[in-house]
Amino acid sequence: MPEQRKGSCQCGAVTYSVAVDPLWVGHCQCTNCQKFTGAGHATNMVVPREAVAVQGELKTYSYEADSGNHMKRHFCPTCGSPVYGESSGNESVVVIRVGTLDDPASVTPQAVIYTERGCSWDTMDPALQSFPGMIKR
Ligand SMILES: [Zn+2]
Ligand SMILES: [Zn+2]
Repeated sequence: MPEQRKGSCQCGAVTYSVAVDPLWVGHCQCTNCQKFTGAGHATNMVVPREAVAVQGELKTYSYEADSGNHMKRHFCPTCGSPVYGESSGNESVVVIRVGTLDDPASVTPQAVIYTERGCSWDTMDPALQSFPGMIKR
């Protein structure tokens, strides 16, 4: 049985649950992730869209990624927590920000992407697989 995970934004107006284990968990050091987290990287988990149930109202910011894909970031309009994102490149999944889980330690990052944009002080676990940009599939 997969573990059911729950999460919320900082103020609690937005809550969500994820019914399955993530397909992928990793850190992203890209410039966009630095901007919206205000930190050196985001820690993201990719999950099937149909496994996620969100309660509460989110605001959306849309932009175009390097790849040309249209990206959407959904965040709480009250507290600003980045809750999840999605890409026109793969509409069957969403990307949840691991720090919004009630128990972020319940998932384990396996890789780091966009290391070429990482800050020198944002030291990552050398045991993780790392990629200079996006993982090529
Ligand atoms: Zn909130
Ligand atoms: Zn990123």
